Amino acid sequence: MAGHRVVIVGGGFAGLQLAKDLKCPDTSITIIDRRNHHLFQPLLYQVATTVLATSEIAWPIRAVFRSRKDVSTLLGEVIGVDTAARLVSLKDGHSIPYDTLVLATGARHAYFGRDDWEPFAPGLKALEDATTIRRRLLLAFEKAELESNPDIRRAMLTFSIIGAGPTGVEMAGIIAELTHRTLVEEFRSIDTTRARILLVEAGPRVLPAFHETLSHYAEQSLAAMGVEVRTGRPVTNCNEHGISIGDEFVPSHTVIWAAGVQASKASVWVGAEKDRVGRAIVQPDLTVMDHPEIFVIGDAALVKTGEGTPVPGIAPAAKQQGKYVAKVIKARANQRPAPPPFKYKHLGNLATIGPSSAVIDFGKLRLKGTLAWWIWGFAHIYFLIGTRSRMAVALSWLWAFTAGHHSARLITQKETLKNEV
Ligand SMILES: Cc1cc2nc3c(=O)[nH]c(=O)nc-3n(C[C@H](O)[C@H](O)[C@H](O)COP(=O)(O)OP(=O)(O)OC[C@H]3O[C@@H](n4cnc5c(N)ncnc54)[C@H](O)[C@@H]3O)c2cc1C
Repeated sequence: MAGHRVVIVGGGFAGLQLAKDLKCPDTSITIIDRRNHHLFQPLLYQVATTVLATSEIAWPIRAVFRSRKDVSTLLGEVIGVDTAARLVSLKDGHSIPYDTLVLATGARHAYFGRDDWEPFAPGLKALEDATTIRRRLLLAFEKAELESNPDIRRAMLTFSIIGAGPTGVEMAGIIAELTHRTLVEEFRSIDTTRARILLVEAGPRVLPAFHETLSHYAEQSLAAMGVEVRTGRPVTNCNEHGISIGDEFVPSHTVIWAAGVQASKASVWVGAEKDRVGRAIVQPDLTVMDHPEIFVIGDAALVKTGEGTPVPGIAPAAKQQGKYVAKVIKARANQRPAPPPFKYKHLGNLATIGPSSAVIDFGKLRLKGTLAWWIWGFAHIYFLIGTRSRMAVALSWLWAFTAGHHSARLITQKETLKNEV
């Protein structure tokens, strides 16, 4: 490798977009990721709820850049950056030199200081999280089928989802579909339609980032599907037996965490100022103060919109930042003036509620119901990588939509946690 060395840490939406756009003579790109795949997180909940298989929403990063000889991919976990020596340190002891460094390491779910809840209420960020949740969901029905004590059986068939943002709402909707349609005819001792699905939100309404009318519609649709929506009171405790909402204890053996976000350690590695959730506060050109050679982008960074509000932690925002940094690096390489500061363009918020219902908030235009669902579906299929994935996902959805069958209902991995149902 010769010339200018650009190291990108993180092959998520921001890092991948940057590498795709950054084609520059005399520049080599190294992508470092602790996983070998790029993950399409917006559909992760469909793996957790048995609609899609893992390989339908994740692709080896190496394969994505097969034909780009200027791009190398390294599998490794970054644990620090020596900004003086310009070296990235990997957990296994290797050091990778850079001239320009882009940290695009994303964020993870957070438990508001209650990390002890994690074993009982797994969150959703990586493929392993999705398969853990899928295993717990499916095991709950299997164990309930064998259970004769009605109270224990009831706790086994109570599914609690904490947090009613898009992920929480989408999970609740599909679990309702699973219990009321997909599994109905398959069990002999239990009636899956009697399963209790609880969606708990500390704030006043579901989908807080959407317009109130859409939140209201989503809440009504969920209720019609059999989901019990509880807003306005936070979960105050969580253990292997269930959750507490204030004084009320709800026996529930399957709890899913869909609230709270904590940025990766990128800000710490480069000594950048950070906000409450650990996002690096970056300059208008997305560089770190006093380090024009270091960029932090995507969910790991706190970037402001023109109105001064934080750019949301969503995939289009991460991709726009990746595109922008590619332009800055290219301008530098070609000794052209730097592009104007990064400007975020909000394209809208989308969430599905049920098998043929969704809400879309484009600001001035708001859609709900079946039309919104079709738009949501096409948008997601469009952004998947490769024709094969698009066809596979479309087929899995068609199968689920017409026959109610979910194609990925496999219990894999061993039970390892003591709270496992
Ligand atoms: C369940 C879920 C559902 C979502 N749904 C939507 C949606 O419907 N629409 C939407 O627009 N957005 C959605 N989002 C948000 C969206 O996925 C994120 O905003 C987006 O992924 C951010 O992109 P990123 O590149 O900053 O980070 P990521 O895509 O998270 O990528 C970060 C990468 O960095 C790697 N990495 C992290 N730490 C290290 C390290 N120490 N060393 C090496 N590599 C590291 C990770 O392995 C990962 O590949 C969802 C997120 C989740 C979790």
